[in-house]
Amino acid sequence: MAKKTNEPKLDFKTDWAYEPAPEDTSHISLKKKYDLFIDGKFVKPNSKKYFATYNPATDEKLADIAEADAKDVDKAVKAARKAFTKWSKISAKERGKYIYRIARLMQERAREFAVIETMDGGKPIRESRDIDVPLAANHFFYYAGWADKLEYAFPNRNPKPIGVAGQIIPWNFPLLMAAWKIAPALATGNTVVLKPAETTSLTALKLAELIRDSGLPDGVVNIVTGAGATGAAIVNHPDINKIAFTGSTDVGKLIQKAIAGTDKKLTLELGGKAANIIFEDAPLDQAIEGIVNGIFFNQGHVCCAGSRLFVQESVADIVIRKLKDRMETLIVGNPLDKNTDIGAINSKEQLLKINKYLKIGKEEGAELYQSSCTIPTKGNFCRPTLFLNASQSHRVVQEEIFGPVLTVQTFRTIEEVIEKANNIPYGLSAGVWTDKGSKIFNLTSKLRAGVVWANTYNKFDPTSPFGGYKESGFGREGGLHGLMPYLRF
Ligand code: NAP
Ligand code: MG
Repeated sequence: MAKKTNEPKLDFKTDWAYEPAPEDTSHISLKKKYDLFIDGKFVKPNSKKYFATYNPATDEKLADIAEADAKDVDKAVKAARKAFTKWSKISAKERGKYIYRIARLMQERAREFAVIETMDGGKPIRESRDIDVPLAANHFFYYAGWADKLEYAFPNRNPKPIGVAGQIIPWNFPLLMAAWKIAPALATGNTVVLKPAETTSLTALKLAELIRDSGLPDGVVNIVTGAGATGAAIVNHPDINKIAFTGSTDVGKLIQKAIAGTDKKLTLELGGKAANIIFEDAPLDQAIEGIVNGIFFNQGHVCCAGSRLFVQESVADIVIRKLKDRMETLIVGNPLDKNTDIGAINSKEQLLKINKYLKIGKEEGAELYQSSCTIPTKGNFCRPTLFLNASQSHRVVQEEIFGPVLTVQTFRTIEEVIEKANNIPYGLSAGVWTDKGSKIFNLTSKLRAGVVWANTYNKFDPTSPFGGYKESGFGREGGLHGLMPYLRF
């Protein structure tokens, strides 16, 4: 279905310190300029303003992206409102068919999505190819299946769609977060105005092209690009019925204040600072892989990253030695190379934030350890980092860094580690590594976290609900639970 365009092929020059054969990008056609996707068409922004999106691994400009203002958002909401009257009334089976079609088209174009995701956001191609894109397609498949089964999901409750959903997503899993938002909204008969993050709009705009090609009725999904002000215009629009936000706790709080007193529904998926707990009876080699995946997957730009390591004192020396050895084998570099383990930090701004925390951690007295790997001289990169001998009161332990930085603390008793793991403003996820099932059950009931992984980490599936406690937000996405925020009963 991919349309031939006359757009120039991207000239992807690289200058890597580490130079293996990178993914071929010659087949990827990017436009020079991307407009707003409103009412089934690409339209120019009211302000005529565009902003640039960059490849964070090379600092090269990839394209210009339209900046939507309040007038554009209003146009998108009006299109979504008009579409809602029809979309909410077509048969549920028909609705499901459209969503299946989106899922299938995404599978057909998976390679293109993966390469663009990696170029625009900096994540390793192995991750975009094997995790982000397949999971995004699976999300559409899964919710397509629910479309005509809502009566069974909520028997005798007569579920009805809410109306127009305003959805705002972050830059760490751009396509996947779009899928998490759009799929359940469509399955339940709502229409959508979605805003991707400023640094990673390209796959959302590719998704807009796919949605147009899928024949989904005009206005059911509208995608408006821009920065925080565009997001705020969605939040404040009087004709939006529901806001679904994934992003930082700070912005989440602003949104909660902004809609107080309105009848807009709200779900917030916010930050995290997860404890990854290793007991002395854990399968240690497996746990090391879990620690590495927990904090270095997607450069640590993961809300549920296992960013606080707790190791039982009796095995602390051996775990830290094995962890350091494993870190030496991690390849940091060209995200388009299939061998890369850690790609580019998503933006200059985020790299500055991470570096600020590296300084704070040292000043606080934690011991900084970094792998000795070389990193490319161009672009935004950070070595995999540990803060050893970290204390509960350190800012690097309490605050979300959102980078490849792991704090390491030790513990003696189960009570002590539960107390420390919970003593934090966040409550999104946790990991537990032990040979004993009873310990796992004990911890899963006592850790205040939305997801607790046992002897594994970062396992995602469309069937299981995901969401936080405390300052990590409220509401669940995924699974049957993920339908509820888009329904009224
Ligand atoms: P962010 O700064 O809060 O931005 C999130 C989104 O909100 C972006 O699209 C952003 O636009 C927009 N935005 C900014 N200011 C706004 C405002 N005043 N009103 C409405 N929208 C506004 O977060 P981020 O830095 O992109 O993402 C990282 C954060 O997301 C981390 O804290 C991470 O833990 C969290 N996260 C949570 C989950 C979860 O499921 N709990 C999943 C992924 C990420 P611009 O980017 O264009 O400015
Ligand atoms: Mg970019």
